[in-house]
Formats: sequence, structure tokens, C-alpha cells
Amino acid sequence: MSTQATHHRSLARLQAALSPLLDAAGLIPGDQAEPRYCQDWSGQRGEPLAVLRPRTPHEVAQVMKHLHALAQPVVIQGGMTGLVASGVPQPGEVVLSMERLKTIEHFDTQQGTLAVQAGVPLETVHQHVQAQGWMFPVDIGSRGSCQIGGLIATNAGGNRVLRYGMTRQSILGLEAVLADGSVISRMGAALKDNAGYDLKHHFIGSEGTLGIVTRAQLALVPLPTSRHTAVVALQTFAQVQALLSLCRQSLGAQLSSFEVMWRDYFTLATQAIQADPPLFTQAAEFWVLVETMGTNLAQDRDLLEHTLAQVLAWDDAVDVVLAQSLADAQRLWAVREAAGEAARAVAPWAGFDVSMPVADMPGWADAIRREIKAMGVPQTQTYGHLGDGNLHLVVGPIPAQAGLKDEVVRRVHASVGALGGSISGEHGIGFSKKAHLGMTRSAEEIALMRTLKQALDPLNLLNRGRIFDMP
Ligand SMILES: Cc1cc2nc3c(=O)[nH]c(=O)nc-3n(C[C@H](O)[C@H](O)[C@H](O)COP(=O)(O)OP(=O)(O)OC[C@H]3O[C@@H](n4cnc5c(N)ncnc54)[C@H](O)[C@@H]3O)c2cc1C
Repeated sequence: MSTQATHHRSLARLQAALSPLLDAAGLIPGDQAEPRYCQDWSGQRGEPLAVLRPRTPHEVAQVMKHLHALAQPVVIQGGMTGLVASGVPQPGEVVLSMERLKTIEHFDTQQGTLAVQAGVPLETVHQHVQAQGWMFPVDIGSRGSCQIGGLIATNAGGNRVLRYGMTRQSILGLEAVLADGSVISRMGAALKDNAGYDLKHHFIGSEGTLGIVTRAQLALVPLPTSRHTAVVALQTFAQVQALLSLCRQSLGAQLSSFEVMWRDYFTLATQAIQADPPLFTQAAEFWVLVETMGTNLAQDRDLLEHTLAQVLAWDDAVDVVLAQSLADAQRLWAVREAAGEAARAVAPWAGFDVSMPVADMPGWADAIRREIKAMGVPQTQTYGHLGDGNLHLVVGPIPAQAGLKDEVVRRVHASVGALGGSISGEHGIGFSKKAHLGMTRSAEEIALMRTLKQALDPLNLLNRGRIFDMP
């Protein structure tokens, strides 16, 4: 039978099984799927057999029962802001989109918990809880599009990990549908629950390979009433490390962000967004964004001013800019959040998201950037969540030369593996980094991951081939 005939037969089989269950907008044949179902932020694309859009967690479970009976492979999609191609449909896969699971189910304003369905966008959560004096601490640049389910599946980090941890730390409970349609539901709102294995952690960060997150219980924190932002321009990495120690000691729990931009990133990012130059000194090697969050506007500002005043004594060339208003703070953050624009300015590019001990960072960055430039790639951009030991490196434009991009990626990942670091601090493995998982995880660890996958999804239907292949 031809490929096209097989395609038609599979689609007809799917329609016959699911039409009684889903409404008219719930099943879209693949050839009518909008581009947003075909491509994530990695730039890779594919065409699904069909797009399924269930309306409730119960419908997700029912759909999976049918797909399991048909042995139909599925790719789960949230807001499609992922950076490692995990959500991109592969030939023969159906998309299971969570975009209609948008209900905010319960807000406990006494204890600060929010029960939501998986398709609620992050920004909607922020706005909803802020109005009542609470904050959901996870915050990332894709907040307008990414969904709670996607954040959980990727265990996203972001700008405030230093203080509040990764997404994992803000999830009290969740509900997941397994590949056979069975439902694992533990929406507990208590911080403490040691009754056996804490199963939610299997789904957090598993990139949709073990189950479909349908609902979550989010842990909120009281909304900080003061927020201060500063940029410190420094000359050496030793000064950056000294500033981190000073901020940790002096600002304590108020320190919420410590983001570092190397000169190569800062120059391109300020150009890319045409940032207002008077806010910044250009004569530095490193720019550090420091943010505090607290509860006393005047006292918190005094503390930050007092802390940063000590830095000015280190070196004549050190400079400090303290935001005087919300608009100032947004302009300072705009440079750090211009990563997407700066990367696109050097297309075709490759991006890395690595973690390692802070002390190893300057030596690693210098050596790998020299190596990459020697391979004919002219530009690098180095920046990241330094307080968390997590760095981003973007390189480009990569000359159109057979195998060059793969070799650049291999060398960067190998250099991180050699330091005992991780090839993914935040974004996950997906398809983009799968070939190099062994540089950062032992054979025993990967074997255990496969054992878990086999136990939860024996037919290998959910997000097949992401992170690792099954034998
Ligand atoms: C501008 C920008 C800035 C970013 N900044 C950061 C950052 O600072 N820190 C960081 O960690 N990441 C960052 N990211 C990447 C980050 O992974 C995503 O933005 C976000 O976590 C993915 O959510 P999503 O809903 O878009 O998921 P998608 O892209 O749709 O999916 C991502 C993965 O999760 C799976 N998935 C989605 N929903 C579910 C579900 N309900 N159940 C099970 N599996 C599911 C998908 O199958 C896929 O494997 C950024 C991305 C962009 C574009």
C-alpha cells in the first residue's frame, strides 16, 4: 500500500474512533493543521496525521484509551515555545493539544494555592493571582504563550530560580493521564506528603514521555511589595564572582535574580533592540543584572544601594545603574530578555543551555569560544542565570558546510561533559540533544530511564524518540 493510502486509512480509523467523543473543533486532519501545530521555537517542523483538541481532563483520558487501543503514537503540545523540538510532530504521530484545557479551577487565597488545568498560559496565572496579593514564582520570557503543562513537562527554570527554585519546587500536586488512559491524580495542596513515592516528580521534567499532565496544584508565595533592579558593569570574572558572594551575604533571601551578560552578548543584544545607551557603560567586560524582591520599599532600596556602593570601591572602571522607576527596570531587563532577537541576528545559529560550577565558567567560555571561532563561526553570545550555575551560549552564523553544525554542537556538549556539567540546565533534551545524552548521563542512568518508560508506556506511544530511543 502507498504511503498516502496508509495515511488516509489511519486518519479514517482515527475519525471513526474519536468522532463520537470530540466536538467538531476537536479533530483537525493533518493537512488542515495551522503552522503553530507543526513547529516549535527550535525551528524544526513536521506534519501530524491529525490534531486532537480535547476540552477537559476527562476527554484527554478517553482519547488516550482509544489511541492506546489503536497503538497510535502521540505528541503532546502545550504553547510550543519549547527549544529542543520535543513538541514537533513526527511522521504518523497525532498532536494532542492542551490548548482548550484553560480552566482555573480553584484559588485558595488563604493558603496560597491555585488549581489549574494544564493549558492555562503562565501569564494568565501571574495576572490572576497578583490581583489577590499572591505570586506564582516561575517566570520566563515565553510567559505569554507557554502553558502550565509545558512548564511542568520541561521543569522550566527562568529568572528567579536563585530564590524560588525550578518549576518542580512550585508544584504541590498534579494529575496525569498515562498512555493507556488511566488517570494518576494527586492534587494535594499540602506541602508535606511522604506516603510512599512522590509520583508527581516522574512527570515533572520528563518532556511528556511518561504521561500527559492535565491539572496541577500550584504553590504561590505572597506578592513582594518592593522590587528593585540594578545593572553592575564589571571588568573581570573574579569581580562577577565577588559580586555574587556579596549579594548573597548582604541581600540574603531578597536576592531574586543574578543574571550575567558577557560583552559578546551585551553588544549584540543592545544593538538588536536598539537599547537606550545612556543607561549603560559600554566599557566593561561583564554586565550583571541584580534584582531584589521584598516587603519594604525604602528599606529594601537602602540595602541594595548600600550593597552596591561597596562594589564601586573595587575598581575605577566599575559602574552601577540603579533603576529609578518601573520603566527603568523594564529597560534594564529588556537587554537580558532580548536573547531571541540577538540569536536571530546571527542566523543560522546554534544555542546551548549548559550548567557547571561557577568557577569553571570563565575558562570554559574562553576555550570553547576560541574553538568555535577557529571552526569558522564568527559570532558568539554568552549570558545566563549565573546564580544557578546555568549559562547560555549562542553561536552563528554557522557557514553552510556539511556536518559543521553537528560538529560544533558535539564539541560544545563534549566540553561540558568533560567538566561533569550538564548539556541541559533548563530546556531539556528532546530531539535536539538526544545524540549527546550519554555525555551527561551514565549508561546506568539512561537504562533506568528506559525501565521507567517501559513500565509507564509499554507501547512507546507518548512522545516517542524524545530524550532517548527505546530498544
Ligand atoms: C523566548 C523564550 C524564553 C524561554 N526562556 C526559558 C527560560 O528562561 N527557562 C526555561 O527553562 N525555559 C525557557 N524557555 C523554553 C521553555 O521550555 C518553554 O518556554 C516552556 O517551558 C515550554 O512550555 P510550552 O507550553 O510552550 O510547551 P511546549 O513547547 O508545547 O512543549 C514542551 C515539551 O513539553 C511537553 N508538554 C507540553 N505540555 C504538556 C502536558 N500538558 N503534559 C505533558 N507534556 C507536555 C511537550 O510534548 C514537549 O515535550 C524559553 C522559550 C522561549 C521561546
